[in-house]
Amino acid sequence: MSNEFLARHLGPSTNDIETMLSSIGCSSVDEVISKIVPKNILFGNRMALDEGMTERDTLALASSLAAKNILATNFIGQGYYGTLMPSVIQRNILENPGWYTAYTPYQAEISQGRLEMLLNFQQMIIDLTGMDISNASLLDEPTACAEAMMMTKRSNKKNKSNQFLIDINTHPQTITILQTRAKPLGIELIIKDIQYHDFSDCFACLMQYPGTNGEVRDLTADITRAKDNDVLTIVACDLLALTLIKTPAEMRADIAVGSSQRFGVPMGFGGPHAAFLSARDAFKRMIPGRLIGMSKDILGNPAMRMSLQTREQHIRRDKATSNICTAQVLLAVLAAAYGIYHGAKGLKKIALSTHAKANNLARSLLDAGFELVTKQFFDTITVNTTDAISLFNSVQLNNINLRLINDNQLSIALDETTTVDELSLLVSILSAGSVSYCQSKNLLFNITKDNLRTSDYLTHPVFSNYHCETEMMRYLKRLENKDIALNQSMIALGSCTMKLNAATQMYPITLPGFSNLHPYAPENQTKGYQQLFKDLEQALVEVTGYDAVSLQPNAGSQGEFAGLLVIKSYHQSRGEEGRNICLIPQSAHGTNPASAVMAGMKVVIVKCDESGNIDIQDLTIKAEKYADKLSAIMVTYPSTHGVFEVGIKQICEIIHTHGAQVYLDGANLNAMVGITRMGEFGADVSHINLHKTFAIPHGGGGPGMGPIGVKSHLKEFLPGNPLIKNSNAVSAAMYGSASILPISWSYIKLLGKYGMQKSTEVAILSANYIANELKNYFPILYQGDHNMVAHECIIDIRPLKEQSGISEEDIAKRLMDYGFHSPTMSFPVAGTLMIEPTESESLREINRFIKAMISIYTEIQKVIKGEWDKNNNLLKNAPHIAIEMAGKWQYPYSREEALYPIDSLKQNKYFPPVKRIDNVYGDRNLFCSCPDIKNFE
Ligand SMILES: *Cc1c(COP(=O)(O)O)cnc(C)c1O
Repeated sequence: MSNEFLARHLGPSTNDIETMLSSIGCSSVDEVISKIVPKNILFGNRMALDEGMTERDTLALASSLAAKNILATNFIGQGYYGTLMPSVIQRNILENPGWYTAYTPYQAEISQGRLEMLLNFQQMIIDLTGMDISNASLLDEPTACAEAMMMTKRSNKKNKSNQFLIDINTHPQTITILQTRAKPLGIELIIKDIQYHDFSDCFACLMQYPGTNGEVRDLTADITRAKDNDVLTIVACDLLALTLIKTPAEMRADIAVGSSQRFGVPMGFGGPHAAFLSARDAFKRMIPGRLIGMSKDILGNPAMRMSLQTREQHIRRDKATSNICTAQVLLAVLAAAYGIYHGAKGLKKIALSTHAKANNLARSLLDAGFELVTKQFFDTITVNTTDAISLFNSVQLNNINLRLINDNQLSIALDETTTVDELSLLVSILSAGSVSYCQSKNLLFNITKDNLRTSDYLTHPVFSNYHCETEMMRYLKRLENKDIALNQSMIALGSCTMKLNAATQMYPITLPGFSNLHPYAPENQTKGYQQLFKDLEQALVEVTGYDAVSLQPNAGSQGEFAGLLVIKSYHQSRGEEGRNICLIPQSAHGTNPASAVMAGMKVVIVKCDESGNIDIQDLTIKAEKYADKLSAIMVTYPSTHGVFEVGIKQICEIIHTHGAQVYLDGANLNAMVGITRMGEFGADVSHINLHKTFAIPHGGGGPGMGPIGVKSHLKEFLPGNPLIKNSNAVSAAMYGSASILPISWSYIKLLGKYGMQKSTEVAILSANYIANELKNYFPILYQGDHNMVAHECIIDIRPLKEQSGISEEDIAKRLMDYGFHSPTMSFPVAGTLMIEPTESESLREINRFIKAMISIYTEIQKVIKGEWDKNNNLLKNAPHIAIEMAGKWQYPYSREEALYPIDSLKQNKYFPPVKRIDNVYGDRNLFCSCPDIKNFE
């Protein structure tokens, strides 16, 4: 059982494992597991999977699969376009763990680099759409449209209609996703040509701009008519087109949404890409998703943070504006970097050249006798033809993909990558050799003057200062250096599983065979991907004990929503559509209740007992009370308290007795792989966070993937093809963010059957080691039998706080002085820290963390003993920053104590760029665009 990669993946060596075992008083890993995992679910490793492969062989296999995908010339468009990622961005962001291994910027002081880039993203969206405020990313364009639909439903107080109008010229995948999302909320969709609609019957409407067929049409008149009827207006727009044509804001729209994919992010067979939602100022407190805003630190210096978090699921739960948690941070960062590198002039040049090519193509096709459907267009033209299907097919034989709109219409979309050779070939095939592609010199707009944009954009200096590569490289490095990512120190965030994202797992994502495929490419061009998906689905079936897997959901939250819809469809198929109660334990993650509400369910909270376990008596009472209305329970296992609850089987049985289904939140799967399987101990459906257990990096808060597994009776209800109406699809692409699936696939290939089991065991062992080493300083809040925890432990700060006034937040900030990212703060219990080391942290690093925690404990004791002032001390004033090294030292403790509390810091010291940030100020004075450069001088 030799596994070369396993030793690279695991932090602790064989000796370290012995050391940890003897520290916790166990003689073997088997003993640890048998004391922690309940006997009745301890199935052993029955995964029918191969043993691990070498890194070399895995890379070779990944490359051979990528090579089985055919790279055609794509003119499909429909929301996805070829684009050129500048090498300086690929090398310094996409391939740089300093960016891709960071976590969501909840600890703002050590996240200023990515916060700045996200603020740049918001500014770029604000400028291009003309809106007042933008969020920092959503999962994809159709779900952004769905979020906008829900937002207008909530905020339109004047119009109580239940109908949402979609213009007929909207991307088909958007219509499907809106169908999925509208139904459980009781919203009725009307799909009509908006030009001829009187708006008397709906609360809001959505228009695509340019239309899905490419038509650029001034929407001002329609929007004005909508406004006259108190109908809110949403425009799904194309960012590159907006450099040339009038903005949604100039047409008076309320909300603008879209995708930033074509700003340097490869199509990747569907994703990941950052969508956006921007709006007028009046809607700023209703915007879903993360919003970056300016605030200031306690020295008064400008500092960034996530604003208005009180609207988000982790605080508002079932009343949240959205269930979004993991979003598309890294992709928003990439798109912003593209905008910065090109600037206004560069983007406009790209847009003009794309437009010129489209113009020339249109002219050539008119010469060839085609009739143009799109009178005004930016980059996409649609033509009428009697033999659309045969032309579509003959072009495809030459590895060229067009979009077949119907039997009589073809659509052709161009982008920055389109070459003259490609267009020449296309024209020659379409005209049967009768016409050649005419390259005109003058860039005649086919767009009428009053549709053209005259307003400025990207005028902030950040969009003009970094156009040479040296400056760009250094700007990216400067931002990277402000943040703590996994390339700096361990990030022991409970529930988030910040494990190694191995370089070999990352390599395949940039292989052109994976990254350059259009999501709607014909199946015969995607054989490599199909095999990888089948492999991955099969492996996840083996890992979970389920019978089928859907790789569609783009994050855990989307998996929850998709899984609950599966449950709903199941009940419906049995004539029990009345079941709408979802039981959720108190301790659940915020996405659970938020997703249940999105799925049209009513949330009923189940209590937890003193030791943190689900109160089975309360569960029994509530299950009986709602019996025939009961739809599901959402339960996390091992629990969010970090314990393998003994009653899990019984809980599943109680739920099933009442005809309901068990949704098991799979975020903690890293504690189960190879040891137990949820599909075998009673769960019916789960999401699997591939960005936790299966090594997709967190990207600073996304991307992620949340596939769902189901038992066989639910298989037929899994999400379908987004291009097929009413298919219950939840993402724009059948396989979600397909291009990052090779990461999880590689992870499984590299570790194999026993490597994954061993990883689980070491993750559990390391968590118990930490709990044991810290328990004399910080009480461990919840433990199972034998006083042991699962793969994470919660330390209770409340008793210390009572004595000292030092809070969990003070500890989190003080850890920054020690060069560490805080563990998860106040989830699932306020006043606590939840620590999850994962299997990838070495004993040396774990001990360094423990030493820091004990040192902080000693500091707190000095406060308790009165040696240090209660309000003016090392912890309350943390973090300490570099500029405090100079000038008069103003604190009642030494510089050395503040900055170098332990010796090892003298060799490697990280300085946060700002002092503690004022959260209240930032929320009161909401400012979500790039600040005047003077503020930084
Ligand atoms: C991370 C997490 C989620 C949400 O998953 P995302 O991928 O961030 O949407 C849900 N439940 C639990 C317990 C989690 O830890």
